[in-house]
Amino acid sequence: MSSFKALVATKGETGPDLAFTDFAESELMAGDVTVRVTHSTVNYKDGLALTGRAPVIRRWPMIPGIDFAGRVEISEHADFKPGDLVILNGWGTGETHLGAYAQMSRVKGDWLVPLPEGLNPDEAMAIGTAGYTAMLCVLALENHGLKPADGPLIVTGAAGGVGSVAVALLAKAGWHVIASTGRPEEGEYLKGLGAAEIIDRAELSAPGRPLGKERWIAGVDAVGSHTLANLLSMTKYGGAVAACGLAQGMDLPASVAPFILRGVSLLGIDSVMCPKPRRLEAWARLASDLDRERLALMTTTIPLTDVIETGRAIVDGKVRGRVVVEIG
Ligand code: NDP
Repeated sequence: MSSFKALVATKGETGPDLAFTDFAESELMAGDVTVRVTHSTVNYKDGLALTGRAPVIRRWPMIPGIDFAGRVEISEHADFKPGDLVILNGWGTGETHLGAYAQMSRVKGDWLVPLPEGLNPDEAMAIGTAGYTAMLCVLALENHGLKPADGPLIVTGAAGGVGSVAVALLAKAGWHVIASTGRPEEGEYLKGLGAAEIIDRAELSAPGRPLGKERWIAGVDAVGSHTLANLLSMTKYGGAVAACGLAQGMDLPASVAPFILRGVSLLGIDSVMCPKPRRLEAWARLASDLDRERLALMTTTIPLTDVIETGRAIVDGKVRGRVVVEIG
């Protein structure tokens, strides 16, 4: 392939100018593995990049798309050979390194994770960076020593990508999952994923008190801002909240009261620069633990030509669950 189909972003006046175009293979960036991309996804960060609502793209021109699954075509890396199926999440892909919304990508082999046994490439992207981040949250809570018998757990942004995967994983592990959502019409969907209770996110999104009634022992928060502050203030003694997102805001208008009076912990979750051993652990656990029927329930599939529109929808909070992009 001397050229391939790609979505290319160039710097525009008010945000990126986006065009589906033929991209020359010679213009790919340095890397020791070239991958034929078969599937990608639309994560919240992809929405921010595509709409220009946050400065995710920091190199122009850029091929957006922060994660992909595909087949190795050329490799100079000892761990990979042509034909191997691989996954990539983050490492600046779609931000500073040409990304996933294209038929080809050239990356550092050190960034790649082999597709785990039992997952196919479209399932891997149904999970995507959102689902892999949900698993990083689960691992963080487990490492903190928390278990289902300790009490209920809350997931915020529950009908979104991180939230949907987190609900499915934690319910299957035996947790009593409280799903917080702004979309009451998705209550049945969330129960289908295993949620035991649904609460209106409006209960958590306004400024709250430093300490509230103790309601849960653990939390997975995709939302930030007042919601995260309220989660902390209502966490039971010795509990923890894994914070991975900012759908409500990047601020954290909280007090230290939950930390110093209840021994509550705030666990920060980053998927982009997460070291490889933890990625391998997360993907192995996703392959073994995530119920495939529930994964199918939360997934819709779109062609590459629909990513711009879907990027707008996800930052407007209108996408349910996960979206797989068939690159074709
Ligand atoms: P989604 O858009 O799929 O999910 C976000 C959900 O948050 C929405 O579905 C909605 O859930 C809720 N929400 C949206 N707007 C608001 C608001 N104003 N106030 C309260 N809740 C809101 O995105 P993803 O699941 O892909 O990502 C979720 C978050 O996690 C994003 O902020 C993303 O940047 C972050 N993230 C971070 C990563 C990391 O490495 N730390 C990796 C991946 C994602 P509902 O309708 O149910 O209320």
